[in-house]
Amino acid sequence: MEFTARQNEIITMVRACEPITGDDIAQKLGLSRSTIRNDLSLLVMTEVLGARPKVGYYYRKAKSVMSLQTLENLSVRDMMSVPVVMDEETSIYDVIVGIFIENVSSVFISKDGFLSGVVSRKDLLRVAIGKLDLQTTPIGMCMTRMPNLVTIGGDDSVLLAAQKINAHKIDALPVVEVTPDGLKVIGRFTKTNITRIFADLASGEF
Ligand code: ADP
Repeated sequence: MEFTARQNEIITMVRACEPITGDDIAQKLGLSRSTIRNDLSLLVMTEVLGARPKVGYYYRKAKSVMSLQTLENLSVRDMMSVPVVMDEETSIYDVIVGIFIENVSSVFISKDGFLSGVVSRKDLLRVAIGKLDLQTTPIGMCMTRMPNLVTIGGDDSVLLAAQKINAHKIDALPVVEVTPDGLKVIGRFTKTNITRIFADLASGEF
């Protein structure tokens, strides 16, 4: 649900100063009590705020949302990041440059537009201290390939994505769409996404 700027201001204020009376909220906003009456009613009705007679308003959302159910209901599609995909023929050197420019921990590799591999920072470090010519050797020579790739679908839950990342001890999952010709990469889901979700959950974002 979208709140107005004033309602968000009230939520922030209550979180900082709870419990706080309606009169005090109005005074801090420089408004009359009757002006914010509807805002307060809506925030109580939607269970963002609680109201105790003679005590005042308090924040309740964060306490009620932090559940496993939330993680099962959130889909990867809604929380994923933009993927960085490069062709198998790209040189190892160009992939290393790409990882810096795009500021990512892994790059997904494609062949004819379909997912064929994943390359991580350590894969690149390993090959960089070896004897291969980085300028001319294609990335296809040092990536983890299909069928060993762990992937996730856009409609899968973020809980399943976190379980896969943990079980396989990897940093990132390509989010894929299955087509008759192969896997199309539509996103990137990483440990960073999970960290962000936890931080947002704790501050009552969902
Ligand atoms: P790093 O190697 O930088 O610690 P990761 O833990 O993500 O990063 O990668 C560990 C190994 O697993 C690497 O060899 C990498 O190619 C491979 N890998 C990374 N992501 C996947 C994935 N989604 N599916 C299969 N293998 C992966």
